[in-house]
Amino acid sequence: MGKINIVVEPPGPRAQKIIERDKKVLMQSYVRWLPLVIRYGEGSVVEDVDGNRYIDLNAGIAVLSTGHRNPIVIEAIKKQLDRFLHYSLTDFYYEEAVALAEKLIDIMPGDKVFFTNSGAESIEGAIKIARGYYKGKRPYIVSFIGSFHGRTMGAMSLTASKTIHRKYFSPLMPGVIHVPYPYCFRCVFNLKYPDCALACLDFIDKWIFRKVVSPDEVAAIFIEPIQGEGGYVPAPREFMRELRELTYEHGILLVADEVQCGMGRTGKWLAVQNYKINPDIITLAKGIASGLPLGAIVGREDVMSLEPGAHANTFGGNPISIAASLATIDLLENSLLENAAIQGEYLLGKLSRLMERYDYIGDVRGLGLMIGMELVRSKKNKEPAKDILNKVIEGAFKRGVLVIGAGESTIRFSPPLNITREEIDEALNILEEVIEEAIKISF
Ligand code: PLP
Repeated sequence: MGKINIVVEPPGPRAQKIIERDKKVLMQSYVRWLPLVIRYGEGSVVEDVDGNRYIDLNAGIAVLSTGHRNPIVIEAIKKQLDRFLHYSLTDFYYEEAVALAEKLIDIMPGDKVFFTNSGAESIEGAIKIARGYYKGKRPYIVSFIGSFHGRTMGAMSLTASKTIHRKYFSPLMPGVIHVPYPYCFRCVFNLKYPDCALACLDFIDKWIFRKVVSPDEVAAIFIEPIQGEGGYVPAPREFMRELRELTYEHGILLVADEVQCGMGRTGKWLAVQNYKINPDIITLAKGIASGLPLGAIVGREDVMSLEPGAHANTFGGNPISIAASLATIDLLENSLLENAAIQGEYLLGKLSRLMERYDYIGDVRGLGLMIGMELVRSKKNKEPAKDILNKVIEGAFKRGVLVIGAGESTIRFSPPLNITREEIDEALNILEEVIEEAIKISF
């Protein structure tokens, strides 16, 4: 017996009513890929308000790392509920925060931690830490075209994945320089990896650092080792290694934005661990607490050196979120990192075989359970097939599989890290049918 059960075509009558009410009272600036109104979640299964059951390949946008309502996470939350709910780290102390910070620096490179409430807040803090480290003497920051770092003013200024994210909001934070990301499937230099000899890295060194900004004025380079919102694009291994060398050479801090690709998603604690490099600062959020709001900045001792009063917040490091995070890390350590690696390889293999069969699947790429499948009009012209993407996402939803897009025309796969092989198979059988149909209708 499969897990999917569609009892009424979604959105059913109850979902429709709630969506109508939502439209009246919530600002409609969200993206809203699908008219899904969730009522209940368990493991990798979501039930909507009309009783339809779906396999969830989103994990609420790469957040529910241990699945919906993991019983061990729930138990940890309940225990903390009986102790205390809040006592601001800005002014006081509690052991839970110390324990999580100790754990984080145990499993990843870094010596000091600052807790936040979200990915964007982790990025904002990292900007201040980097500029503060150089006492304001290095005002510039380099980030990548295609990157997504969040929607607050500083994080948005680093972001460059869709113009709508930035439109109307200028002036943005000054001092940000965008450079091309190694998106090899769509190389801005029209070269082919690895024959390109990393032209995009050379571009930073030979053009940006000679003609635009002197590297001794750059505080940090921010990079997503795997671009998330920008299309699930992993940077090539040599690129990350060479970028690390370049930053060492110029005394520039390397900030790895691991908000989406970190905390086990790639089968390792951090995506950078696949590249065997140590950044100076790591930003975390999303999957760190299995759905509760929490983020963290982890960095080198000397870098995490802002003085008292220079940076703080009211809610960062909420004890309930921390309890959920400690339980999440235990689960990842015990089996889910391994499961992410195993199931990720399996999913990547299956999607790669689909790519061989269909001319409309231009690229399949990823690490662990962070996989993108880019849809194109043909492998030859590589024209993004946004219409097919939308049909696949909608068709999958109507048949009980939850996926959303990234970049221009990529399907993103970021399921809970405890998804089973059977669940992947069940979802992929449907997805394959849907892709076939979407292609037929589109041509
Ligand atoms: N950084 C990355 C890589 C992200 O994917 C996101 C969100 O998608 C953010 C930062 C911003 O996180 P939040 O939405 O929690 O502010």
